[in-house]
Amino acid sequence: MAKKDYYATLGVEKDAPAEEIKKAYRRLAKKYHPDVAKGGGSAEKFKQIAEAYEVLSDPEKRSQFDRFGHVGPEQGFDFDFRRARDTFQEFGFGGSFENIFDIFFGEGGVTRAQTRRRSQALRGEDLEYRLRLTLEDAVQGTRMKITVPRYIGCTQCHGQGQEPGTKSQVCPTCNGRGQVEYRRQTVLGSFVNVMACDRCEGSGQIVEHPCKKCDGRGRIWEQSRISIRVPEGVDSGSRLRLAEEGNAGIKGGPPGDLYIAVEIASHDVFKRDGDNLHCQVPISFTQAALGAVIIVPTISGQEEIKVPAGTQSGETIVLHSKGVPRLRGRGNGDQIVHIQVVVPRKLTRQQRDLLEKLDLEI
Ligand SMILES: [Zn+2]
Ligand SMILES: [Zn+2]
Repeated sequence: MAKKDYYATLGVEKDAPAEEIKKAYRRLAKKYHPDVAKGGGSAEKFKQIAEAYEVLSDPEKRSQFDRFGHVGPEQGFDFDFRRARDTFQEFGFGGSFENIFDIFFGEGGVTRAQTRRRSQALRGEDLEYRLRLTLEDAVQGTRMKITVPRYIGCTQCHGQGQEPGTKSQVCPTCNGRGQVEYRRQTVLGSFVNVMACDRCEGSGQIVEHPCKKCDGRGRIWEQSRISIRVPEGVDSGSRLRLAEEGNAGIKGGPPGDLYIAVEIASHDVFKRDGDNLHCQVPISFTQAALGAVIIVPTISGQEEIKVPAGTQSGETIVLHSKGVPRLRGRGNGDQIVHIQVVVPRKLTRQQRDLLEKLDLEI
């Protein structure tokens, strides 16, 4: 293996000041950056530049290199890719570090930064439950019990996944750390790679007696009865969140949330429009002409209202605050009564005579 000359790689003198080394690196890194420079050899060149800068920009490594002609153990040196990445970022090259590291480490290389412990505790899934409500319940709010099929923590092993009374073993492969490190030689020197331990799937423990009730999964399926409170004023499309009422977590993870998606059934009497309720109320044409006190339905009972004399079909009477409570904010919407003047389809002889005598002009 030919001796490396980092100074030559960067094209600077042996006594070049730090500022000059930085400048040289900036110029060359830009020129040979694998994402910029097309064509063969640039990636290799880029690695050399990165390594040279890594050494010469560090006073300690630089003096080591000056004295011994190499840095670190054996032929290579411990290339700190994280520092290299920070350097690239400092220089504002942005963007494609993942690619660069792919080049450094080869296909499927695992770096410290990319390592994930595969089987860390997982949060349970969120669930959605569709709740169909009557208009009355939606307006007035209600409490009820619903049945939700979901995973709950295993009652036998309390979510641990192992038979009660048995103990898990510390994983002998990783000594309970859940990760294994290994060194890897590359053109840049040796790298320490860290991966989740295969044997224990990153948990550091090996369960020898999985819980029989849950097959070691730590959670079981059941139809849960859940008490819920529906606040007054919900509408179709409202979504209520019940924190931590979703599926139980995996390996000690927290449970997910339960979302209640509200849907409101249509009503025989009322039509809802936001916070307002509309209804049609029929009156006779004599009531319309003479005025009357009539009884109308409201969502919470019945109400007497006065129909003024001379009311026309289609006119409205507003019952203030008899609508839906506002979910956000105070007060209620209104109830709007649409008056329908009903003309009789059949008349008795007597009624006919009376009306003919009346012979009103419009
Ligand atoms: Zn269990
Ligand atoms: Zn292990």
